[in-house]
Amino acid sequence: MTKTFAFIGLGVMGSPMASNLVKAGYKVKGWNRTSSKNLVKQADAAGVKVVSTIASAVRNADLIFICVSDEADVNEVIFQSGGIAENAENNTLIIDFSTIGAIASQNMTKNLAVKGLRFLDAPISGGDIGAQQGTLTIMVGGKQADFTEAEPVLAAMGKNIIYCGESGSGQAVKLCNQVLCSVHMVALCEAMQLAKQLGLDPNLIIEVCSTGAAGSWALSNLGEKVADSDFAPGFMIKHILKDLRLVQENLGDADLDLPGVEFAQKQFQSVQDMGGEEQGTQAMIRAYNNN
Ligand code: NAP
Repeated sequence: MTKTFAFIGLGVMGSPMASNLVKAGYKVKGWNRTSSKNLVKQADAAGVKVVSTIASAVRNADLIFICVSDEADVNEVIFQSGGIAENAENNTLIIDFSTIGAIASQNMTKNLAVKGLRFLDAPISGGDIGAQQGTLTIMVGGKQADFTEAEPVLAAMGKNIIYCGESGSGQAVKLCNQVLCSVHMVALCEAMQLAKQLGLDPNLIIEVCSTGAAGSWALSNLGEKVADSDFAPGFMIKHILKDLRLVQENLGDADLDLPGVEFAQKQFQSVQDMGGEEQGTQAMIRAYNNN
């Protein structure tokens, strides 16, 4: 019988990911807090059955996927009255794609085990483009047996599906990933500023530098957007600021300086202060131009 999945959170990432599950032949019931959004309509048009309550999405679901924003939001969709924990069948596997940090995921694993439910942290990388094309990197933490069960289904949404270790390990790897993304964005913005100063066509920098040792996902996918001042998200400034906050929180009392991250955080924060919280991370260039 065709497996039926629940997908909670049909945003920039969740909407195309749920649609890719349908494309792979699964039945998907999707729920989004704000049902009127275009991304929800797009999922509906792609064959996701959009329902109006979390309960109707998760009842009898073979797997439950979550892709919301922060720790508090994941907690809300799971533990609120009428939420996932109240309505999922006993022993169902819940897979969370949201970036919420390792400590939060470990706590959720424990709190869900008490309720007879299983949990994998499975944060993602590859941007809206990777979500649309089904080429995401998915970094998974939790029990190996649960990973083995989930892996063939995750392959409908991602190309690189990697088991990282026990609960929280996927999130820990994702925090390192976000350090790389943040500092790569600093490098991209500064190279573009220098190119402008030297009178170079920014597209020449993208063409030449992305093939050599200076290449990065940011340069290849966001370089043109920086050059064109196209700040549509992608990955929003408010989410990268959340992730860099999670880096600090997950360090706890550890004495570790990350000056590159601190600088990136300052640049993203100044774009947020200019009203850019829902612009893509490439809007960091605004901090350099001060507008
Ligand atoms: P998004 O477009 O802002 O979508 C967030 C989704 O979460 C929306 O569906 C939103 O519902 C829902 N949501 C937030 N708080 C909620 C709550 N308290 N209760 C119920 N639903 C709630 O964000 P996104 O870009 O898809 O990112 C989702 C997650 O993936 C984040 O953790 C982000 O850090 C991570 N991520 C994003 C990217 C990327 O490139 N965009 C890449 C890797 C990882 P509404 O529509 O009602 O607001």
